[in-house]
Amino acid sequence: MISPEMWIQQWRPRAASEWRRPGAEFGTAAVGRRVAELLAALRQGGGDALLRIEAALRADHSVAVAAALNAVALAPADLEVEVRAGAVPADLMQALVTARARLRDFAGAAMPRTVSHTDTMGNVAELRVVPLDRVGIYVPGGRAPYVSSVLMAAVPARAAGVKDVVLCTPARPDGTPDPGILTAAAVAGVDRLFLLGAVQALAAMAWGLGPVPRCDKVVGPGGPYVVEAKRQLFGEAGLDGLPGPSEIVVLASEGADPAWVAADLLAQAEHGPDSLAILISTELRLAEDVALRLIEQAERLPERRREDALTSLLASGGPIVVATPEAGLVLAEEIAPEHLSLQGAAAEALSDRVGKAGAVFVGPWSPVAAGDYAAGTNHVLPTAGTARFASGLTPADFVRRMEVFRGLADGAVAWAPPAETLARAEGFIAHAESIALRRRAAGAPRGPEPAAPYVPPVPAHAVRLDLNENPFPWPDDLWAEVLPALRAAEPTRYPRDTDRLQAALAAYAGVPVDQCLPGNGSDELLLAAAAAWGSRVSRALFPTPTFGMYRRLARAAGVPAVGIPVGPAPDFALPVDALLAEIRKGGDTLLFLCRPNNPTGTLWPANQVRRLVETEGVWAVVDEAYIEFAGEDLSDWLPTHPRLCLLRTMSKAFALAGLRVGYALGRPDALADLRQAVQPWAISTFSCASAMAALGRPEGMRQQVRELISERARLTAELGRLPGVTPYPSRANYVLFGVDAATAGWDAFALFDHLYAAGAVLRRWKDEPALRHCLRVSVGRPEENDRLLELLAAAVSGRRG
Ligand code: PMP
Repeated sequence: MISPEMWIQQWRPRAASEWRRPGAEFGTAAVGRRVAELLAALRQGGGDALLRIEAALRADHSVAVAAALNAVALAPADLEVEVRAGAVPADLMQALVTARARLRDFAGAAMPRTVSHTDTMGNVAELRVVPLDRVGIYVPGGRAPYVSSVLMAAVPARAAGVKDVVLCTPARPDGTPDPGILTAAAVAGVDRLFLLGAVQALAAMAWGLGPVPRCDKVVGPGGPYVVEAKRQLFGEAGLDGLPGPSEIVVLASEGADPAWVAADLLAQAEHGPDSLAILISTELRLAEDVALRLIEQAERLPERRREDALTSLLASGGPIVVATPEAGLVLAEEIAPEHLSLQGAAAEALSDRVGKAGAVFVGPWSPVAAGDYAAGTNHVLPTAGTARFASGLTPADFVRRMEVFRGLADGAVAWAPPAETLARAEGFIAHAESIALRRRAAGAPRGPEPAAPYVPPVPAHAVRLDLNENPFPWPDDLWAEVLPALRAAEPTRYPRDTDRLQAALAAYAGVPVDQCLPGNGSDELLLAAAAAWGSRVSRALFPTPTFGMYRRLARAAGVPAVGIPVGPAPDFALPVDALLAEIRKGGDTLLFLCRPNNPTGTLWPANQVRRLVETEGVWAVVDEAYIEFAGEDLSDWLPTHPRLCLLRTMSKAFALAGLRVGYALGRPDALADLRQAVQPWAISTFSCASAMAALGRPEGMRQQVRELISERARLTAELGRLPGVTPYPSRANYVLFGVDAATAGWDAFALFDHLYAAGAVLRRWKDEPALRHCLRVSVGRPEENDRLLELLAAAVSGRRG
C-alpha cells in the first residue's frame, strides 16, 4: 500500500483542462464473449441449462460454458426461496422499514399521472399511465450485499402499481440468500425470490426460464457482467440503464467544510477501486485541507475499503481548482456524474442550474450517502456520463405511458384535412381513404361537402323552455293594432315598408338610420357577416361554448373555425389572452362574441371585449341577441369601430321569433359589406307590419323583460335548492345549470329525457363536451317555471330515495 505522504503528493491539484475520464473496464471483449456464450447456452437449453449453469457457476465462477452445461443440475426448488424476513438485527429491520416508508412517500408523490387534453373541437387526446404487470429486479451480492438496492427497486415498483415483483440475487456459498437481502425483499413486498447469478438471472427474468417467470422489465445495478448482459438483452425485455461503478463529484465553494467534503468523497470511493470520486473547488486551500482529511479518515476504514477508496481517488485524479463556481459547474456537467454534491457558499445558487447529473445533493446537510439509503430519493442512477440523457430509477420506470385518442364526429374537421393531405403526400392511399371516410361524414372545413345544418330541437308538445323564446303571448291591444295593418299591407307585392322598419329599428337602437340593417332574423345577418368577412380572414374565432351557429357559418364560409374554451363555471371567464394569442397568429380574424353568451348567460366585461375588438386584424361580430335582458349594450362604440358590427333580434325581448326580424348595427361601410349577402326582400310584408307595431310600444316589451328578469332570479334561486343542481348566474332569458349525477340521481342526458317525457323541454348538448353535464332552461312564464321546478324536484327526490 502506498504511504500517506506519497498519496498526498500524487493527489495534487490540477486545472480543469487536465481532466480525463479514466478508461472504463466495462464492455471488454472478454466480458462480451463470455456473456454471449452464456446467453446462447441459456437460450438453447432453456430451464435445464439454467439449472446446470447456475450449479456450475456457484461452484466456480470462471468455469467454461460448455463444461457448465454438463454439471449436475440444481433442482428447480433450489432456486426459489420463500420471501420472509430473515435473521437480522432488530435495528436493521427497523431501518429497512423506515427507509421503505420514506421511499414510498416520495415515490407516491413522484408517480406520473394520466393527463388528458381536449382540443377546441372536443377531440380528446390522453396520455394514460398503466403499471407494468411483472418486473424483475437483480440485486448483486459480490463486494457487498446491497440490501438497500432491494428497496430502491422494489418500493417504486410497488408504488407504481406493478402486480408482480420478482427478485434475483446470487446465492451465498452455502446456497442460501443473504439474510439482509431476503429481509429487505420481504419488507419491500417482493413476491418471488430466486437465487441466480448475474447473467443467468437477467436472462431468466427477460425470457422466463425454468421456475423464473418472464418479466416485462428487468432492472437493477450490477458489475460488468450485468451491464453486458443488459446490453445483449436489449429489446427482449424492458431494461433500466446500464449502471456502472459509483461516481461522485463534489463541487465545493468557499466555506465548505473540508472534513465533510472528504467524508463524502470517501463514501463513494469505498465502493471499489473503479469508483470515480472527484473534487472540484474554487479554493486551493480547501483542496489541500481535503487531501489531509482524506488520508486521516481513510485510516479509520477497514483495510480493503481503505485501499479501494484511496486507489479510486488517485485513479479519478487529484482535486480540480477552478476560478469560479460557474466554471466548476461547467466541468461538473461535462462529467455528468452519478452524484453531484454541492457544498459551500455557492451551493444553493448553483443547484437550480444543474441539468446533467444522476442526482444532486445540495448543501452540507445532504450527503450523497443520505440518498444511498434513506433520503427517499433513489440510488439506482445513471453513471459513466449517461446522465446527459438518462435518469435514475423512479416510479416512471415501472409504468407504460400509452396515448389514447377519442375523436368526435364534429372534431374530425380539426385533424382529418391535414392527416389526409399528409397521407397522400406519402403515397399511402389506404391511409388517406380511411381518413376521407371520416372527413366526408363529418363535413370538412373547406371543400365541396356542405356542413350539417343547424337544426334546433323541435319537440311537439309540452312546456317549451328550449329555444329562449319570449313566453308571453301578444297582448290583445297589439293584435288589435296589427291585424288592420296586415290587412292594409299588400302581400301581392314585394315588401314596401323595409325602409320604415329600418328607421324604426335605428330609432329604437339610438343610432343614425344608415347604421342599421334589417335582416331575416339575426341568423341571416350572421350568415351575411360570415359570407362578407369570412373571405378576408384566416380564421373565425369564438369562445366556447357559445351559440352553435358560429362554427357552422364559419364552415359554410370556408374559413377554419377556432373555438377557445371559456374559463370554468360559474364565471365562464372570457379567455382574453388565449383569444389574443390566436388573433396574433397572422392574417385577419373574424371574431364572434355572444354577449350575453348563449348558453352560459355570461355578460363578459365590456373592457375585456374592447381589448379583443380593438386588436389589429379583427373583424368583430358582437351578437347582442339577448341584450335587453342584460342592459349595457355596446352601440356607443360604433362610431369609432369600423370593423365592428352588433347583431340584434326581435325574436327575444320583442317576442317576435316567428316573424324572423333581426338587425345589424354598424358603420355604413361595414353594413355595406353585409348587405351584399342579405336577400333583397329579407323581411316579409307581414313581419314588417308586425315589427313596426311592436316597436311602437317599447314600454310593453320593457315590462315583459322586467318580469322575465325577476322570474330568472326566482328560477335560479329555486334551481339552486335542488340536490345536485347548480344554476349559473345569467344575464339573459335563460339559465344554464349543471347536474351532478351522483347527487341528483340523474345525469344531464337522462334528466333531459325524463323531463321531456314528463312534459318539459329543455336544451341539452350532444357534441359539446364542456356542456355534457349541463341543461339550459329558458325563463318561461311563472306557471311554466313552476311546472318545471315541480317536475325537477320530483325527479331528483324520487330517484334518490
Ligand atoms: N344569436 C344567438 C346568440 C341566438 O341564441 C339566436 C337564436 N337562438 C340567434 C342569434 C338567432 O336569432 P334570430 O335569427 O331569431 O334573430
